[in-house]
Amino acid sequence: MGQLNAGIVPVTPFQQNCTILFDMDDKHGVVVDPGGDIDKVLGMLKDNAITAEAIWITHGHIDHAGGAMELKEALGIEIIGPHEADKMLLDNLENQGRRYGIGGVRNCVPDRFLTEGETVSFGGHVFEVLHCPGHAPGHVVYYNRAAKFAHVGDVLFRGSVGRTDLPGGDHAALIASIKDKLLPLGDDIGFICGHGPGGRFGEERRTNPFLT
Ligand SMILES: [Zn+2]
Ligand SMILES: [Zn+2]
Repeated sequence: MGQLNAGIVPVTPFQQNCTILFDMDDKHGVVVDPGGDIDKVLGMLKDNAITAEAIWITHGHIDHAGGAMELKEALGIEIIGPHEADKMLLDNLENQGRRYGIGGVRNCVPDRFLTEGETVSFGGHVFEVLHCPGHAPGHVVYYNRAAKFAHVGDVLFRGSVGRTDLPGGDHAALIASIKDKLLPLGDDIGFICGHGPGGRFGEERRTNPFLT
C-alpha cells in the first residue's frame, strides 16, 4: 500500500471541491462528491491513470451529488453514502437543478447509505464514517486515522462553517458535530472541505470565529 493522495477538481457554478482520493502506488481510489462537470472529473482520472472504485458522497446537496449518477454509469461503480437522513435531498436534486438553472443534474440513488461508526475503504486505506448533521441532516465525514486526514464536506471550512439556512439545517447541531466529533480527533488532523482551501483542525480550533 502506498501513500494516500488527493486531487481536487472544482465542479459546478458553486466551485465545489470534487476530490479524488487515491493510492500513490497502485493509482486506485474513490471520487468524493462528483457534483457535476463529470467530463472534467473523468479527464482528471484519465490524465493521471487513476482507477476509481467507488463514489463517496458527503451529503445530498446539488453541488456534491448532482453528477453522481452520471459518473456511476460512466464508470460502472457504486455510490456509497451519505447517511439516509439526506434521502429527501437526494430525491429532490432535479428540482434544485431547475431552480438554480443547472443542467444535467439527476436525482441520486445511492447503492448504500452509511451510519456512524461504519468504515469504508479502498486498497488498504480505511476511513471511519462520522455522522455530522447540521449543514445537512445526513452529512457524513470520512476520517482516515492512519493518514491523520478527514474529508469534511460542508461541515467545516477554513475560517468558517457550513451554512444552516437550507432545508434540514440546524446551527446548534452543526457546532456540536464540529466540537464533539471533529475537533477531538486532534489538532494535527488535516482536512479537505467542500469549498475553498483545506486546513488543520488545530488552526480552526484556535482561530475559527464560529468555534472560539
Ligand atoms: Zn452543502
Ligand atoms: Zn457545497
